[in-house]
Amino acid sequence: MPSDTFLDLLLSAPVLGLLGLLIGSFLNVVIHRLPQMMERDWRRESAELLELSAPDDGPPLSLLRPGSHCPHCGHVLRWHENLPLIGWLRLRGRCAACSGPISPRYPLVEGLTALLFASLAWRFGADPVLLAWAGFVAVLIAAAGIDWDTTLLPDSLTQPLLWAGLVVAALGWTLPLDQALWGAVAGYGALWTVFWLFKLVTGKDGMGAGDFKLLAALGAWLGPAMLLPVVLAASLIGALVGLGLKAGGQLREGRYVPFGPFLAGAGLLVLYAGPQRVSGWMGWA
Ligand SMILES: [Zn+2]
Repeated sequence: MPSDTFLDLLLSAPVLGLLGLLIGSFLNVVIHRLPQMMERDWRRESAELLELSAPDDGPPLSLLRPGSHCPHCGHVLRWHENLPLIGWLRLRGRCAACSGPISPRYPLVEGLTALLFASLAWRFGADPVLLAWAGFVAVLIAAAGIDWDTTLLPDSLTQPLLWAGLVVAALGWTLPLDQALWGAVAGYGALWTVFWLFKLVTGKDGMGAGDFKLLAALGAWLGPAMLLPVVLAASLIGALVGLGLKAGGQLREGRYVPFGPFLAGAGLLVLYAGPQRVSGWMGWA
C-alpha cells in the first residue's frame, strides 16, 4: 500500500534525525529562556503581592520572541547562521559580527536530539507511537538542561509530561493505564519518602520537589517496575559526575549537583534499552 511506504519514509531514521535537529534548536531556546521567563513571573507576582510598582524587565520575552541573537553584541542571526548544527559549524562557534564565542552547547543539544530521535526508528520501527516517545525525549532534554543550569525543574515541563504519560497509556500506546498510574504514584512517593527520611536524619534538603514530579512522570511513561533501575542508574551516574566535578574543582562550596539531569538520562537509558534488557540487568528476568 502506498500509504505504508509514505509512513515508512516519514518515520525513518534520517527524517526523524532532521526533525530532531529542528526540535533541538527549539529546545536550546527553551533551556535558555524558560528560566528567565519564570523569574520575571516571580518578580512580577512578588511585586503585586507586596503592592510595589511593577519591576522593569525590559522588552517582552517569550519562546518565540525576540529572534535568536548574539548575547554579546545583540547581532540578530541570519537564517543561514541559525541553521541547526551547520550554522554553528560554519561560524566555527563565533559570532559573525563581534567574534564573541557561541557556546558549543547549542550544536551539542541539536546533535543529541537528532541522534535520540533517529534512534527511535531503530527502537520502535515505523510505528507512529514513536512520535509520542519523541515528545517524551524532547521534554526530558529541556528539563535536564534547565535543571543543570538553574537547579530548577519547571512544573510547566514535568506536569504536562506526567499527564501525557497517562493519556498515551489510556490510548493504548504504551502501558496498561493502571501501570502508568501506579508508576506515577510510586515515582512521586518514593522520592518524597527519601526526601523526608533524609531531612529527618540530616536536617537538610537532599533534593527538590521537582525531582519527585519528574520521577512521577517517568513512572507514568515507563511503569512502576522501571523506577528502581532509573533511580539506581541516576544515583550511580550522578555520584560519578559529582565526584568528577569535585576532583576537577568545578563544584563550588555549598553548591550541589542537580539530580534531574541524571533522572532524565536514566529514563532515556531505560527507554532505549527496553524493559526486557533492563530486567535482565537487574537479574529479574
Ligand atoms: Zn556578537
